[in-house]
Amino acid sequence: MIKISNLQFAELCVKRAGLTRNLPKGKEELQWVSNTATLIYGEKDAVLVDTFTTIGQNQKLIDWIKSFDRNLKYIYITHGHGDHFFGIKQIKEAFPNVKALATKGSVEVSYKQGSPKHIESFWGKLFPNQIPQPQVFPDVIDSNSFELEEHGLEIIEAGFTDTANTTSLWIPDIELLVAGDVVYNGIHQHLAETTESSRLEWILAIDGLKELNSKFVITGHKVPENDNKPKILDETKQYLLDFIRLDKETDNVLDLYNAMLDLYPNRVNPGALWGSANAVKA
Ligand SMILES: [Zn+2]
Repeated sequence: MIKISNLQFAELCVKRAGLTRNLPKGKEELQWVSNTATLIYGEKDAVLVDTFTTIGQNQKLIDWIKSFDRNLKYIYITHGHGDHFFGIKQIKEAFPNVKALATKGSVEVSYKQGSPKHIESFWGKLFPNQIPQPQVFPDVIDSNSFELEEHGLEIIEAGFTDTANTTSLWIPDIELLVAGDVVYNGIHQHLAETTESSRLEWILAIDGLKELNSKFVITGHKVPENDNKPKILDETKQYLLDFIRLDKETDNVLDLYNAMLDLYPNRVNPGALWGSANAVKA
């Protein structure tokens, strides 16, 4: 009889400074953001979903993965934003047999995010001498699924959410959705790249994920103490609906920002909201 192992999972959250730092005064205690990396592991092998931003954070991630004593087979990158894939270089150095994978669309975004020009003009200014260089990019996965110890891991393409070509990873055997940036947990959502029609596309993507009836939803950005209950799917959708409505009801950046803060006074990273409000009112 063939015995199929049970999968388990664990998450590591690290806090860092937000990317938009010129926001109005107030809410200083909420001016940070976190990134989440998820390890899914069986008896011998493991898959990592997403990495971190800085050299120090990614070293911490490597030490954490090693503590599980598994063979790291894959790194799956949910989308092309730098804070999710900049760790590939260090992780490949630490685990030479690992393969880093992402969809074709995510790989395209990652090449823009990790170009020397964009590192110099954007990431390197925000995190001087802390961004791993030169970048190592994920390879394109040609399939919409891969395996960990005979369990299927399914890629769900979400289209444009907080950037282009984003995805989530669904592991049906443990009812786990590793949502990437399609879902946020307690943190202001990055809408600066969105348009009204892409925000509606994002809502449809969330509706699709709700049909999975996941037991656990791990997001790319979460308040570390928060749980992973699926109610965050509805919370992420409601935030988008509120932003769309309040964008129509306000006519300047500050009014939109303050109207959203009234509804979401405790969400972390108000800088993201400031960036979103500036982008839509520009
Ligand atoms: Zn992100």
